[in-house]
Amino acid sequence: MNLGLEGKTAIVCAASKGLGFACARALAREGVAMVITGRDVAALEMAAAGIRAETGAEVRIAPGDITTEAGRQAALALLPAPDILVNNAGGPPPGDFRDFSDEMWRDALNANMLTPIAMIRAVIDGMIARKFGRIVNITSGSVKSPIPTLGLSNGARAGLTGFVAGLARQVAAHNVTINNLLPGAFETDRLRQNVAKAAQAEGISVEEAIARRGAASPAGRVGVPAEFGDACAFLCATSSGFIVGQNLLLDGGAFNATLS
Ligand code: NAP
Repeated sequence: MNLGLEGKTAIVCAASKGLGFACARALAREGVAMVITGRDVAALEMAAAGIRAETGAEVRIAPGDITTEAGRQAALALLPAPDILVNNAGGPPPGDFRDFSDEMWRDALNANMLTPIAMIRAVIDGMIARKFGRIVNITSGSVKSPIPTLGLSNGARAGLTGFVAGLARQVAAHNVTINNLLPGAFETDRLRQNVAKAAQAEGISVEEAIARRGAASPAGRVGVPAEFGDACAFLCATSSGFIVGQNLLLDGGAFNATLS
């Protein structure tokens, strides 16, 4: 399938590792030129070099914290009018909701709701004017099926999801789509960090804990980031203009429902 993305441009946020990196790599394979962001400059440079070497795509880096105005402006200064925007940032910490301070709530809302909205606000009118835009927000399976220890994530991402549901339908007529990708368990550093504590408590390795987590899902394994990247590229395809305001769950069937 030709996704029709050759020559398009993208900003992929939080993309030096994990799911953001996988999205950047998949888009680069389709001929998309891009700006990728991340806080650790060395990791970002290495990621960009890897994607360039593999795909030959133009990859520029915008080091910085995407949850800050300066971090966002760094990316937008390099590419003010992208055809594609992939919103991503680190996830909030787990814990008991009684221990979440107002500041922790503000940080979570900023990172996982207000930051993607700010990026959308910065690029969407240009997309509307050019009659092409693809916006993909990396959220979480916790939007559909809340994870008790991830109250900050459940709440902040649900806010973004509600906002996007409305906005997506206001811009679709201009061939601008906004959709969300909802990861279940994918093998990334984030997952390794999340399972590390439980693994220690059970006296098993992180790898064993991840394998057990995967075995509990119908697919019998956790997700591979490249699978996530390919789903992102598909949502960005020129022929995906009729996919509007959707929440695509990639979780190996872990969410048990007749309709999901
Ligand atoms: P990851 O492997 O830890 O990678 C996170 C990436 O984002 C890194 O490149 C990191 O680079 C960058 N990043 C983090 N915070 C940033 C910031 N403030 N500004 C700029 N870049 C930032 O995480 P992941 O597993 O890919 O997760 C991506 C998102 O999906 C997270 O929000 C996570 O909560 C969510 N999610 C993941 C899973 C899963 O199983 N993996 C499941 C559900 C939801 P720097 O640290 O150098 O900035």
